[in-house]
Amino acid sequence: TKRVFSFSEGNAGMKDLLGGKGANLAEMTRAGLPVPPGFTITTEACHSYFRMGSRLPEELLHQMDMAMDQLEVESGRQFGDPTTPLLVSVRSGSVTSMPGMMDTILNLGLNDETVAGLAALTNNERFAYDCYRRLVQMFGNVVFGIESYHFEQLLHRLKAEEKVQQDQDVSAQGWQRLIEQYKKCLTEEAGRPFPQDVREQLHLAVEAVFKSWNNHRAQVYRKINRIPDHQGTAVNVQSMVFGNMGNDCGTGVVFTRNPSTGENVLFGEYLINAQGEDVVAGIRTPMAITSLQIEMPEIYDQLAHSAQKLERHYKDMQDIEFTVEKGKLFFLQTRNGKRSAQAALKIAVDLVQEQILSKTESLKRIEVSHLDQLLHRGLDEAAVQQVVAVGLPASPGAAVGQLVFDADTAVEWSKAGRQVILARPETTPEDIHGLLASEGVVTSRGGLTSHAAVVARGMGKPCVCGCESILIIPEEKVLVSGERRIAEGAWITLDGASGRVIEGKIPLKEAEMTEELTAMLRWADDVRTLQVFANADNPHDAKIARQFGAQGIGLCRTEHMFFSPVRLPIVQQMILADSKEDRLRALQKLLPMQQSDFEGMFREMDGLPVTIRLLDPPLHEFLPKREELQQKLTRLIYDEQDSGKEQLELRRLIRKVDSLHEVNPMLGHRGCRLGIVYPEIYDMQIEAIFRAASRVIDEGCSVIPEIMIPLVGHTNELKILRELVDTVAEQVLGTAKKRNCPYKVGTMIEVPRAALTARQIAAHADFFSFGTNDLTQMTFGYSRDDAENKFLAHYIDHKLLPHNPFQVLDTDGVGQLIELAITAGKNVKRSLKNGICGEHGGDKDSIFYCHQIGLDYVSCSPYRIPLARIAAAQACI
Ligand code: ADP
Ligand code: MG
Ligand code: MG
Repeated sequence: TKRVFSFSEGNAGMKDLLGGKGANLAEMTRAGLPVPPGFTITTEACHSYFRMGSRLPEELLHQMDMAMDQLEVESGRQFGDPTTPLLVSVRSGSVTSMPGMMDTILNLGLNDETVAGLAALTNNERFAYDCYRRLVQMFGNVVFGIESYHFEQLLHRLKAEEKVQQDQDVSAQGWQRLIEQYKKCLTEEAGRPFPQDVREQLHLAVEAVFKSWNNHRAQVYRKINRIPDHQGTAVNVQSMVFGNMGNDCGTGVVFTRNPSTGENVLFGEYLINAQGEDVVAGIRTPMAITSLQIEMPEIYDQLAHSAQKLERHYKDMQDIEFTVEKGKLFFLQTRNGKRSAQAALKIAVDLVQEQILSKTESLKRIEVSHLDQLLHRGLDEAAVQQVVAVGLPASPGAAVGQLVFDADTAVEWSKAGRQVILARPETTPEDIHGLLASEGVVTSRGGLTSHAAVVARGMGKPCVCGCESILIIPEEKVLVSGERRIAEGAWITLDGASGRVIEGKIPLKEAEMTEELTAMLRWADDVRTLQVFANADNPHDAKIARQFGAQGIGLCRTEHMFFSPVRLPIVQQMILADSKEDRLRALQKLLPMQQSDFEGMFREMDGLPVTIRLLDPPLHEFLPKREELQQKLTRLIYDEQDSGKEQLELRRLIRKVDSLHEVNPMLGHRGCRLGIVYPEIYDMQIEAIFRAASRVIDEGCSVIPEIMIPLVGHTNELKILRELVDTVAEQVLGTAKKRNCPYKVGTMIEVPRAALTARQIAAHADFFSFGTNDLTQMTFGYSRDDAENKFLAHYIDHKLLPHNPFQVLDTDGVGQLIELAITAGKNVKRSLKNGICGEHGGDKDSIFYCHQIGLDYVSCSPYRIPLARIAAAQACI
């Protein structure tokens, strides 16, 4: 098999084989852009490396030799030759871009002899040894796994000795001394010397890149981004160009549009006299690309021109790495740029307006997870007082949390339920678990393309970086701003949109719809067939849902209306009632309250269906915990005061709580089982619904109540309760008004038996709403409240399950029940309406599935509605 492709052989379509970087390097080469020559070792070679027990196959070694021969011809230099040494970079390149997650080695091919040759050839000793020390460090780090701080310490000491601040001011002799120290460090730490044989260097480097596919941070990244583990990585070997040869050299990164706002201007950063990683690593804070226009106008024009060409070619915003060597521009990488949600949307809309993309192409491009971010929060500006610093606005959204200074603490605290803000001088891929655990990130060094910025944008977390006016000192756990010292645990607010770091806990404001989002959603609505409803339990949520474009309420959980401090005691009275009369009295008090809730919902949803689920949870959820009552009682008894009556009351309560106790409450007396044993509860709720309907109809609104019976498992349950609904409707509305109130009665399908007997159940139902939370719980036999932190994580880690089935619908099992129920139900009743109202209604993959199996609607939380509308459109494209 062919396992090595020269850049001139590949193209952008070969991503699976060549990885993203390799395929794009090939594409740029074909397009005639100045790309240093090189070749790509395929992902398939990576697989066979692992298959052979981590050995490079003979055949691959042979093909690499041939490719190196060709590279020598193309570059006019010889690998390992002291007079005209060829240097290469060895770069990882996975199929799906994983920025900064895997390893790259630069300047490979240098050894004690070739470094002298390079110095002579370029007449620049300082430069040659700078390259060599970088190689030894990267090689030690990537191949031998020696931690960077070993090297950083030595470098730090050297700079102190030479009394210089910046790397580029170190002398040639300084670098030579450092190289000797580095080599010694390597021998000590790795137990073997830095290899002088350049072929051995190459082989070890290629192996290291292969292995980096399985390093910890790459695995974490893949997990977060749902990238399959089996993809593997390609390796690119590319002849070096040098941005560190002097002041007519440099290196940088540009985006064809602003990745934070989406604005159509060249955006980026560069460093003069620097090599590769310096920009991304945030070691020096780089210059804005606009100053390149002044410093190197010709290079700037060429860069801007080619950047635009690349963008047109790929029909998407590009993130481009370039290097200038002695006044000549080279391209080292291009890829579709990561961007903030806001930018993603603006770019997608602009590309349509610029006629580069069609509406459907543009819709398809939208990453729905991004929309989540867009609907992120801003600051309540009135509350902003103490601005500690203003850094770079690296990722939009506002975040509030307690300050922590390292990733592990961030994880620990967030596990304990605290909101944290991570502050670091700069972040590295080793901090990724900390980023994930925090509300937002702030760094004192690094630009808009630094690691923290890129990763935060990807995760949708607010980020402020390059706050140079403050000092972040992890060793002392303190953030210093002038005279102020802010310690771990202090509350901090970040505004990623303006770059402000603010002391204290500033209230946040909810997001609003932008013009671009509105446009995109309109396009989505033109395409999609799946309707999008909202889960909303009160008029306020209903209003938000409607603003976000909900076409109805798919789930209103009436019990949520019971939990307010005013109502809970009345609900408890109702539950504790000894006689039916007492219970009815309590219910009569609840009725007007429920009625006014429903009126509010109906008004907000004028003209749209409102699906109301009757009481669902077990009654004990409304009562105090037994332990608490017992403690109270004990206190009363030991209190000398006369409390006989109170004690009696408490004992009665405890007896009641005991009598309601169930071993498996989730499988117990809840849902329609309550409505059947205590019909007066449902009776009251239904009456409240129709009274509310009647009133709001009189106000001139059009009301479409859909009454939903939970937890039905047998058709008789639904039959009885449907009769109850019809009777109450008749009583409250009367025949005349009933005509103006086209209500429906339906059921949740959330017990497997209901799905299996859908034919019988459909006879009494106008609609089915798949309650996929309970249906998943009961189909797997997993208790949702326990499974997630007991065994489910283990299952997912060990790949027994592809996803958490409570997040992503299990189509193989749960989905089969849904499909069965839909088919059976429709057979009996063509007009049967089908929807889903579990957590899954807001998950992209699940929405695709719902579209595919012909559901009429999905219902999700108000903030996920825009996402669901786009996903529903994408499902049709
Ligand atoms: P990453 O995926 O982490 O960006 P890269 O392989 O792209 O890693 O390389 C890291 C840095 O080294 C980049 O800035 C890149 O431009 C630079 N680089 C890689 N290969 C070369 C080369 N042949 N000549 C000069 N710079 C290079
Ligand atoms: Mg790169
Ligand atoms: Mg349920």
